[in-house]
Amino acid sequence: MRSIWKAMRNGWTAALSVLVILGFCALSIAVILQLRADRWAQATDAAMNLNRAVGQDIARTFSTLDLALLGVAERLHADQGAYREQILHTPVFERSATAQHLGAVMVLDSAGVVVSDTGPIQMRGTNLANREYYEVHRAGTVEGLHISRPFRGRTTGEWRLALSRRWDRQDGSFGGVVMASLKLDYIRGIFGSLDLGPGGRITLFREDGIVLLRSPQGEAMIDLDLSQGTAFRAIPTAAEGHYRSISGRDGVERFYVFKRIEGLPLILNLGTSIDAIEDGWRPRALVIGGTTLVLVGALLAALWRLRLELRRRRTAELLARRREADFRLLAENTGDMVSRIGPDGIRRYVSPAAYAILGRGPDQLLGTSALEGVHPEDLPALATEVARLRGRTAEAVTVTYRSWRADGAEIWLESTLKAVPGTVPGRLDGVVAVTRDITERKVLERQLATLARLDGLTGVANRRSFDEALGRAWAHCMQAGLPVSLILVDVDRFKAFNDHYGHQGGDGCLRVVAATVGATIRRAGDLVARYGGEEFVVLLPETDAEGAAAVAERLRMEVEALALPHAACGREDGVVTVSVGLATMRPASCRSARGPEALVEAADQALYQAKQAGRNRVMRAPQIDPLGPVAAL
Ligand code: GH3
Ligand code: MG
Ligand code: MG
Repeated sequence: MRSIWKAMRNGWTAALSVLVILGFCALSIAVILQLRADRWAQATDAAMNLNRAVGQDIARTFSTLDLALLGVAERLHADQGAYREQILHTPVFERSATAQHLGAVMVLDSAGVVVSDTGPIQMRGTNLANREYYEVHRAGTVEGLHISRPFRGRTTGEWRLALSRRWDRQDGSFGGVVMASLKLDYIRGIFGSLDLGPGGRITLFREDGIVLLRSPQGEAMIDLDLSQGTAFRAIPTAAEGHYRSISGRDGVERFYVFKRIEGLPLILNLGTSIDAIEDGWRPRALVIGGTTLVLVGALLAALWRLRLELRRRRTAELLARRREADFRLLAENTGDMVSRIGPDGIRRYVSPAAYAILGRGPDQLLGTSALEGVHPEDLPALATEVARLRGRTAEAVTVTYRSWRADGAEIWLESTLKAVPGTVPGRLDGVVAVTRDITERKVLERQLATLARLDGLTGVANRRSFDEALGRAWAHCMQAGLPVSLILVDVDRFKAFNDHYGHQGGDGCLRVVAATVGATIRRAGDLVARYGGEEFVVLLPETDAEGAAAVAERLRMEVEALALPHAACGREDGVVTVSVGLATMRPASCRSARGPEALVEAADQALYQAKQAGRNRVMRAPQIDPLGPVAAL
């Protein structure tokens, strides 16, 4: 169920990412398309407005001239062809703004002969019957205004257009033609003032495809018949509009905006280079497109990294969860108390075994300091071991320390602490402690240690304990400058005792003698030990020869006073007695000084003396020079 949900969530995330990227791309495509549409709309508007303005300009001029021509034609009609000189002296021809662009204004009679004209060269009498404008009016193929093909003026050679109207006599017959020639410079002036942009061109056509003027660089095109040209043929029949066409002349594709000039047989065609229009939006589109691609790329890279990171984290989480589960399984099923202690020393996890060991549950221990409840005397040792872990000089340490159970009982604990490496290299994330109760073991150990120091038969200290005690007393008295005394006690004729009473009896006798000797020693620091066989030793630190002699004599008497029967002792009284050898020495600290063995040797010699002298007595070794050889006895 969980994996299905996860898969669905992953699917949703992927779908959302794809959606965001697609949305991003769609948005920038929409912006780019809008840019393009705006640019085209702007180019179209600009071209159409320009066309309209130019068209209106031309229309106004041509209409003004046409009206003037119409006025002349009507007057000729009314005057019955009485050609008065002044008929042409109208304000339009002489003083209007158009007047400066005018060439000759002439009236032709029905035979095509100039009957009146205003030009500088008098053309009157010239027959112009071969001119196009005469022919079309005479033939009656044109009604109203006729605009001629461009032609060169006779005198100046400059290009002109003839605007002409037919005039009729009153009987309706052809009276002739009224004509005004307009310099193409006039239109060239208008065209020249236009900013058509790179590759742009404007052409004024006659409706039949004759080029009246083209700008720029269109001199060679004047009067060309382009009625079969691709650009002209593509012009729709509407009053105005636009279309695209590839020029048959230069092979350039252009965007054409055309306009039929109202009331005149003229078409204005404004061509703009497609590249010039496209250049108005392409750089911006490239920037937007490029930025989008970079952003989408970055987004994809980020998503990919996120995916890898998520996968890494998921694996790490899974691993951590598995480890945690293993850890808990082990921790909660072992009799040892397992705790997880943070770097701050606070318990983060405690296994249920805490109940059995400390008498307190995990809930009471969580959040408390791991050092809480440790016996103050054991704290320094514990701190030293923890410092080793922290300093990475040890991966794991084992510490034993005392603590208290919830019921107040003192217990011994043994903890194995293992460092938990942190996520930051070189730093610890705390420790895992496995703790067990070793109180029983400690008690046993202590008992064993005590037992190891005692003599099994008599219960007094054994030889090893004596050797250690002698070493300590020796060092202490050397430092303090005090004497050490030693008493050796040997049961008299004990071999015979054994022989007479048996080994068991001998053992019993030794136990009683040991207890009696022990009882005579009262000062703390003194020690009674079994030296071997039926020999005992009494160590008396800080005791001079006199004091020791008193002790020796007392213990000899005490044993004798026991009156333990010793039938084979060879004396009349027949009781167990002891012989005692005694030596005293002041330990010296120089190198050549004698050690404690000299003291033992001297006491042994004295004991030997006591045996020799008849037993059941105390013999004192002579004064010993700590630096010289033992005095010969
Ligand atoms: P002396 O008066 O010269 O000391 O005579 P002695 O017989 O006591 O001398 P010796 O040292 O030769 O004998 C010691 C005897 O003590 C030998 C041994 O049988 C006996 N002995 C030593 N240790 C034990 C012991 O632990 N139990 C018993 N029952 N006898 C022991
Ligand atoms: Mg002996
Ligand atoms: Mg003996």
